[in-house]
Amino acid sequence: MANVLIIGAGGVGRVVVHKCVQNRDIFEKITLASRRLSSCELYQQEVKARYDMDIDIAEVDADNIPDLVALIQKVKPDMVLNIALPYQDLTIMEACLQTGIHYLDTANYEHPDSAKFEYKEQWAFNERYKEAGIMALLGSGFDPGVTNVFCAYAQKHYFDEIETIDILDCNAGDHGYAFATNFNPEINLREVSSKGRYWENGTWIETEPMEIKMVWDYPQIGKKDSYLLYHEEMESLIKHIKGLKRIRFFMTFGESYLTHMKCLENVGMLGIEEVEHNGQKIIPMQFLKTLLPDPSTLGARTIGKTNIGIVATGIKNGIKKTIYIYNVCDHQETYKETGAQAVSYTTGVPAMIGAKLMMEGKWMQKGVLNMEQFDPDPFMEALKTQGLPWFVEEL
Ligand code: NDP
Repeated sequence: MANVLIIGAGGVGRVVVHKCVQNRDIFEKITLASRRLSSCELYQQEVKARYDMDIDIAEVDADNIPDLVALIQKVKPDMVLNIALPYQDLTIMEACLQTGIHYLDTANYEHPDSAKFEYKEQWAFNERYKEAGIMALLGSGFDPGVTNVFCAYAQKHYFDEIETIDILDCNAGDHGYAFATNFNPEINLREVSSKGRYWENGTWIETEPMEIKMVWDYPQIGKKDSYLLYHEEMESLIKHIKGLKRIRFFMTFGESYLTHMKCLENVGMLGIEEVEHNGQKIIPMQFLKTLLPDPSTLGARTIGKTNIGIVATGIKNGIKKTIYIYNVCDHQETYKETGAQAVSYTTGVPAMIGAKLMMEGKWMQKGVLNMEQFDPDPFMEALKTQGLPWFVEEL
């Protein structure tokens, strides 16, 4: 059926490859491309040994549009799954536009020189994608991604109008290191060291990093300190969820993580501007990334669970109600299945599901679209059968 090009052979890329191979009735031909061929070879051998399926591999610099165009013209895919870094979103979107190929990603564009997340530059492709008759699905990971679909599902099945949404992201995994990040360290640390922001009554309210804290009792995990952060899915959800008055995003962090991060920040190790070191120019954050454990190696040693979900309040038939929709994922189980820990797994599975629905024509519309703009039901069904079952509770 479909011929897909996956770009980015990191922690999440590994899961996407496994899940596409598991769904080979849809993904008949798979090419995995990355900056280093060695990253692709590892997963090529892994899926050959585990599923006896051959995938093609290629080397590509996804910052370079002509290189991307040449690769797409050679592979002739039906769609491109961008599983590289947010820095590559615009170049890969442009290459897809030039070649007339559908696009999907898991994280919104971020400029390497400023830790700022916004959809503006990706949404600006909308008219040109429509004219070219192609689709871009933005943010098909867990958050953004599944959390957007949970909101659309709540709106469709539980409310006449949603008033407030809290997105709650808990990773209670323990990898045994004093400090490590569960996905790309640079992206992760830039996100959590930035100012917090939430949306209320039509305006964005900014907070200092980690200024607002609450304790939430996460099912199958327990009570955890949860801190308010800015997160990209809020920008699209305020456009698409009717009647919304407030939306916030909370993520759990342990004491050790926060103390290490504060210390690294205080000594300048989270800096993203070049500094001179022994006659060489280095970026402190990139040097720190070199020192920290590679997230794709954490799988074997991570135990515990993740719980990510949404709490929505609103009105149904004149009565106020609150519902909680969430998924719980076990690090060791995802490791057994794909060789990756749950943070990569909960991102890679929804990326595959988004691509599957596009290739089946169930989610297919010209233009640049966010997850909550589609019917949530087929996605919610697929989550159950593809390894991410979910629960709904009335609170
Ligand atoms: P990794 O750092 O593990 O992997 C990124 C991969 O991208 C690497 O394999 C790297 O290649 C490749 N890459 C980087 N730059 C280029 C380039 N210029 N050209 C080609 N390939 C390149 O990151 P993760 O797998 O952890 O994360 C992948 C994406 O998933 C990120 O965008 C991240 O923000 C997103 N994410 C989304 C989440 C969600 O819930 N929505 C949650 C977690 C992550 P190589 O190895 O070949 O050098």
